[in-house]
Amino acid sequence: KPIVAVVGRPNVGKSTLVNRILGRREAVVQDQPGVTRDRVSYDANWNGREFVLVDTGGWMSDAQGMAAAIAEQAELAISLADAVLFVVDATVGTTDEDEAVVRVLRRSQKPVVLAANKVDDQRHEMMAATMWNLGLGEPFPVSALHGRGSGDLLDAVLNSIPEAPKETYEEVGGPRRVAIVGKPNVGKSSLLNKMAGETRVVVSDVSGTTVDPVDELVEIGGQVYRLIDTAGIRKRVKEASGHEYYASLRTQAAIERAEVCIMVVDASEPVSDQDLRILSNIEESGRALVIAFNKWDLTDEERRYYLDREIDRDLQAWKWAPTVNISALTGRNVDKLGKAIETAAAGWETRISTGKLNAFLGRLSAAHPHPVRSGKQPRILFGTQAQNCPPTFALFTSGKMDDTYVRYIERRLREDFGFEGSPVHVQIRARE
Ligand code: GDP
Repeated sequence: KPIVAVVGRPNVGKSTLVNRILGRREAVVQDQPGVTRDRVSYDANWNGREFVLVDTGGWMSDAQGMAAAIAEQAELAISLADAVLFVVDATVGTTDEDEAVVRVLRRSQKPVVLAANKVDDQRHEMMAATMWNLGLGEPFPVSALHGRGSGDLLDAVLNSIPEAPKETYEEVGGPRRVAIVGKPNVGKSSLLNKMAGETRVVVSDVSGTTVDPVDELVEIGGQVYRLIDTAGIRKRVKEASGHEYYASLRTQAAIERAEVCIMVVDASEPVSDQDLRILSNIEESGRALVIAFNKWDLTDEERRYYLDREIDRDLQAWKWAPTVNISALTGRNVDKLGKAIETAAAGWETRISTGKLNAFLGRLSAAHPHPVRSGKQPRILFGTQAQNCPPTFALFTSGKMDDTYVRYIERRLREDFGFEGSPVHVQIRARE
């Protein structure tokens, strides 16, 4: 799905426009500096075309100066988006901050659509027309508040994105895309330095690769990997008040671009809710997962005892992920990440033939049929692997299946076929 980022300085009405596009009042309508929000991207649909809408409105800090902060926001949005929806305020006209964004947008090759917002009546149409001077092409007059003009705007946005050829990961080729993710201070940048420092790969040495300036190539165990958004890891913006929001937006973008995520957890500290949230995010995004327990050098026997219990209690849901106990500081086991990445990627890419799958489903149904419900016996008629990356199975059944039974099928699929390091999805298509 193409990603559309909504960019613009505070108070131009980005969130209102996002709400308007989504057709619901879900996004926060506040458009003020430093608001921290969890939700940053939304699934949207226009005329049957699906896209992801990223609202960059929530993070912003004037610590670095407004224009610089906005330019940085724009840069981030550009790095992750397929198209940018740039919002300006037609009642105010063009400001220095707007110009700062335009400079960043110009440097990028991404399509930009200009929305002149707050055109609530004819009177403001003239103002909108002056926005031609930004040099971004035709300004679309809209009123996010009243819904005016948003249809034409969306047409323009979606027309600006080339209809992507259905990109499957095998076809992309090139080094595997790996994201290092985790909450702040767990050692992501230390790990990155360790990986990149020891075996730096010069981009031009790997033929046929164009690497985003935010990515880096590293070699682990003779295999070259593309680390996603290393600029985001290296660039520390901790002081900025919008940091938390910024970090979550970046994390999400990195997860979405990656094939395999290395989730870095600080082994010396209790597993936290934030860790669990990021893990859920990875799973929901359908990415392969490796868990790296870092700062192992700081753990003693007692801490390791408690960590084991935390893993049993909190990380059960991800016990399919390979784990490596590392120290980014000493370099311990960092080289083992290569094998773990390969394992997870293999699980993620696995394809099961329809024959094998149905033989498995036959055995499963015979040994452990779905419980009879109101006199009927829901049966699995036929199954097929709808896709891989991650493995996703469509099962055609006579009647609805209980969630517990579906989870049982998932468990058995893992027992028989592995899928180590990958989420597995089972979809039931019930014929009532
Ligand atoms: P990030 O925010 O996830 O990128 O974390 P950093 O890489 O900046 O690390 C945060 C702090 O933890 C720094 O002071 C690092 O030196 C320290 N650190 C990172 N990895 C390790 C490790 O394996 N062992 C120890 N003892 N300290 C570590």
